[in-house]
Amino acid sequence: MSDQPRIFLSSPHMSGREQKYINDAFETNWIAPLGPNVDGFEKELASYVGVKDAAAVSSGTAAIHLALRLLDVQAGDRVFCSSLTFVATANPILYQGAEPVFIDSEPETWNMSPDALEGAFVDSEQEGRLPKAVIVVNLYGQSAKMDELMAICDRYGVPVIEDAAESLGAEYKGKKSGTFGKFGVYSFNGNKIITTSGGGMLVSNEETALRKARFLATQARDPAPHYQHSEEGYNYRMSNILAGVGRAQLEVLDERVAARRAIFDRYVEALGGIEGLEFMPELEGTLHNRWLTTLTIDQGKLGLSPMDLIDALEEENIEARPVWKPLHLQPLFEGVKYYPHDTDRSVSDELFENGICLPSGSNMTAEQQERVIAKIINVVNSKAGIR
Ligand SMILES: *Cc1c(COP(=O)(O)O)cnc(C)c1O
Repeated sequence: MSDQPRIFLSSPHMSGREQKYINDAFETNWIAPLGPNVDGFEKELASYVGVKDAAAVSSGTAAIHLALRLLDVQAGDRVFCSSLTFVATANPILYQGAEPVFIDSEPETWNMSPDALEGAFVDSEQEGRLPKAVIVVNLYGQSAKMDELMAICDRYGVPVIEDAAESLGAEYKGKKSGTFGKFGVYSFNGNKIITTSGGGMLVSNEETALRKARFLATQARDPAPHYQHSEEGYNYRMSNILAGVGRAQLEVLDERVAARRAIFDRYVEALGGIEGLEFMPELEGTLHNRWLTTLTIDQGKLGLSPMDLIDALEEENIEARPVWKPLHLQPLFEGVKYYPHDTDRSVSDELFENGICLPSGSNMTAEQQERVIAKIINVVNSKAGIR
């Protein structure tokens, strides 16, 4: 084990201005949930991504749950969902007692395959059980093929929820990722491109819907002086202290995107020449925020699996991870319907088998990144020596 300091996959990167907003909250005693920082953070984020309204909540997962509630997803309803994602995308489907149907990725964005989605719609229509919603994920900061996906969903009249937890700051054809569906969701968890230590945002152009979201997120209190409730609610709002952290983080978001993209570029420059390593593509007409630098390993060519490389990096106290394990392969979702990209090809299975995520924090120094690169070259060369 190396005695060098640990290099993390993605660690929080403060701007230095967070304390100012926190102090404002303390000085005015706005410690409780809600307050001027929450209002400010909502307005500033809505304006940044270019939507009418945003509701700050306690997590990205909570935002997805609220979106499903607003679309009236109930027990027994179907919801289509990207398979290659973090489990948080689909857990709220289970909270509602609904049935997830998982959709494969396509190779150009690693996100939802329009072909697989079309297939799922055709079957569901035949069964007379169209989904109530489609959750499209924008993985690792790359927007999905929104034009194609939206066209299919519009044709069937089914609303889209965009899980943009990983793609804040990214763009699709000049428009911010997370603003294409009826609802968009961002996360400010500790490892995301900006963080409030924990938090999320639900965005939409439908202000009435977001008013309802705020109502549901504050225990669904009816307007009455006594505490009266006619609907099931949640305690999902963001605190005024954490929203202060978010405001300061949002101020530097564009710098964070630039820093992550520069880290990606340095990896490509140093490792792009190795035959058998292929970096996650950036679809033409989109801006990838490169939240995490991810690549696939041709195991036949390099004699090396992602886990071999992850273990070798761990020896140097460097954190790396496999690509998300697709949800259709998770024990939690055993027996759930799944639509692959092609009858004989599941792209998400391939990406999981061969994919790896490298340390990509915007606060990673050039020296730290050099340590990662040197180890990868060393491992690749030593495998080449054995062959
Ligand atoms: C992080 C993440 C979430 C959940 O966000 P939380 O704020 O941690 O609840 C949802 N979907 C994806 C794709 C994520 O990466």
